[in-house]
Amino acid sequence: MNYDRILIRYGEMSTKGRNRSKFTNKMKSNIKRLLADDRIQVEAQRDRMFIYLNGASFYEVKEQLLHVSGIQSFSPVVKTSQELDEMKEAALELVKRAMIGATTFKVETRRADKTFPLDTHALNHEIGGHVLRGTENVTVDVHHPNLTLVVEVRQEAVYLSCETYPGAGGLPAGAAGKAVLLLSGGLDSPVAGYMMMKRGVEIEAVHFFSPPYTSERAKQKVMDLADTLTKYGGHVRLHIVPFTHIQETIHKQVPENYTMTSTRRMMMRIADRIREQTGALAIVTGESLGQVASQTMESMAAINNVTNTPVLRPLIASDKLDIMDTARKIGTHDISILPYEDCCTIFTPAAPKTRPRTEKVQYFESFLDFEPLIEQAIRDTETIMLPKKEKEMDDLL
Ligand code: ATP
Ligand code: MG
Repeated sequence: MNYDRILIRYGEMSTKGRNRSKFTNKMKSNIKRLLADDRIQVEAQRDRMFIYLNGASFYEVKEQLLHVSGIQSFSPVVKTSQELDEMKEAALELVKRAMIGATTFKVETRRADKTFPLDTHALNHEIGGHVLRGTENVTVDVHHPNLTLVVEVRQEAVYLSCETYPGAGGLPAGAAGKAVLLLSGGLDSPVAGYMMMKRGVEIEAVHFFSPPYTSERAKQKVMDLADTLTKYGGHVRLHIVPFTHIQETIHKQVPENYTMTSTRRMMMRIADRIREQTGALAIVTGESLGQVASQTMESMAAINNVTNTPVLRPLIASDKLDIMDTARKIGTHDISILPYEDCCTIFTPAAPKTRPRTEKVQYFESFLDFEPLIEQAIRDTETIMLPKKEKEMDDLL
């Protein structure tokens, strides 16, 4: 007997009242796109979702579902009719298969169909008894069982399961609108992107890249990071902005200890344009207070000064070690620590100003009109839709 469907339980989404269907539809399309298997069908109901496997392997699908935001938990289930014998057989088989290493179990019946002749107590007893007779060295423990067999009696059918997996929680990616993520090749910004995706935000990633100071491999690294983020429920569009000319100009124009502040301000201005063009509502960065020179409050104020757009900093109060743990969990850590140079590291001054003053940086920038350079950079921006198929990825390299 194979699992033929997966039951998905919604988390926070179930508290969404009238907007709920917007959330469930978003999650449904995210799941469909992620699984990309013609055999698989997804049905969103009011309080749960079903994935019909139609021959696809549960264990392969499971690995992908673990990452999908909006899912509270999910279980592979077997469907039977309301015939007691059929239920008992299915229960025994399921328990036998799942019992490896376990010695105690309990049956937990939910009787959504109140017309079913046996009550939950009687059903637990009938099914539990059958399982006990068909297994060895197994006992019932209603308080702390190793394994719980859930039997759900509904009008149309009975669903049995003894495996439940936690989902990623949060809200489905895309359900909360769109934001632009400043995505460097570092550890922090991919984690920041992941955290926003978990809150239902769809990501337009923007990366600044400065050839020939930065290599194609550095660009590939950022593509891999953005591609990894797509696992969490949506597609990600990556905008790669050629930044060399602007960085060189800043270098000539602005005193060295202010170049970093100015660089970040130009990034912010460009990101804000892309935000406008793509209909995004906010800008997300991987900044964390005090982590490096550009991440003091004075510095953030000077950088933020170029826009009124909300700048979201999900990692602002996080410790580096916690950020690294999350990066490992979401699969970006090992990509981020690859050594390829970033456009900022190359131009980083020996002693960047840790408490820059907004008026000063404005004054230094006032000698030159950066606007045409910004417009040119936006015109030359390359946009890549992720996830990419392997083949297309190869062609791109
Ligand atoms: P990260 O680990 O994300 O690179 P960081 O600790 O290196 O962050 P900074 O270099 O000060 O910190 O960068 C702060 C934020 O600015 C980054 O988290 C990212 O959001 C953005 N950023 C920096 N460099 C780039 C870049 N080349 N392209 C796009 N965004 C960038
Ligand atoms: Mg960095």
